[in-house]
Order: sequence, then C-alpha cells, then structure tokens
Amino acid sequence: MAKLKIFLAAFALTVFVSGACSEDAPPPDVQVLGVITPDKTEVFMQIAAEMSRYPLPASARPVVFILPSEEMGPLLGAFNCADPNVVLVNIDTPPDLRAGVIVHEFVHFLQCQAGQLPAAPTCEQRAAFEAEAYTAEYRFELKYLKVHRPLDVTTSNCENRGITE
Ligand SMILES: [Zn+2]
Repeated sequence: MAKLKIFLAAFALTVFVSGACSEDAPPPDVQVLGVITPDKTEVFMQIAAEMSRYPLPASARPVVFILPSEEMGPLLGAFNCADPNVVLVNIDTPPDLRAGVIVHEFVHFLQCQAGQLPAAPTCEQRAAFEAEAYTAEYRFELKYLKVHRPLDVTTSNCENRGITE
C-alpha cells in the first residue's frame, strides 16, 4: 500500500509531462499535450474496479489523453461511451484532483464496458451514473489519499441543477 501511495504522489508530478505514445491515435482535431502510460493506466483501472461494483475487464483499456483547457472547457475529465477507447483529462486539473478524476472517468469506462450506459440517458439515469463515479472517486481519495470529500450528487436534483461530467 505504501508503494501505491508513493506512486500516486509521483503520478501527480509526472503524468502531465509524459510524451504522447506514437502507437495511439489522438482524438481528431484537438491539441494533445500528453498521454498516460499503459502501466499507470492499468493501476488506475484496477483501482476503478476496486472502488466500484464493476469487474476489471480482461484486456480493454482506454488511452488517457491530456488536453489543454481550451479543448476541455470547464470539464476536468471526459468519457464518451460512443468512443470508449479514449478518456480525456484537462491539463488544468488541480494536481490533488488528477488521480481522482481519472478514477472517475474510468468508472464511466467500466459502466460502458458493462453495457449499462444508455445512448440517451434520462437526467435521473445520468445522475445515477455520475453518483456512482463520484462515489468511487471519493472512496479512492479517502482510502489512498486520506482526503475526505462529502458526496454531493443525488438523483433528486435533476430539475434544480446541472449534472457535471
Ligand atoms: Zn462523470
């Protein structure tokens, strides 16, 4: 466990300076600043499975691209089940949130792998999948980073506030 904590601390410093892998095609028409290495991707996928109710897929793994904030807008991370091989992370994500954001997006990847993400979800469905991803993200932060953030996503607020990605 100590080894993982050291890795995670190093991750925040190193992830955004890793170079793009030539084998991986970046998303079209966007400026890619970097990509997370496969070994780090594997660690975070195992954590996402551990922190959620989803099994670890045998081999399917997305490529995590780091994009400038001009491409990401207000989003810290993004995943689209229609393009499940790609996870996007905003380079302006604060360092202490980066690992959690990847766990969050990987839970969406696992939801997609499990065939549970509808193409056109209702607000309530969307909120439920977000709550699941945030729960895993915050469980990860509590267990591995010793940071507690209260969960503030419910399925009852669809009419009152927007649901973030
Ligand atoms: Zn989300």
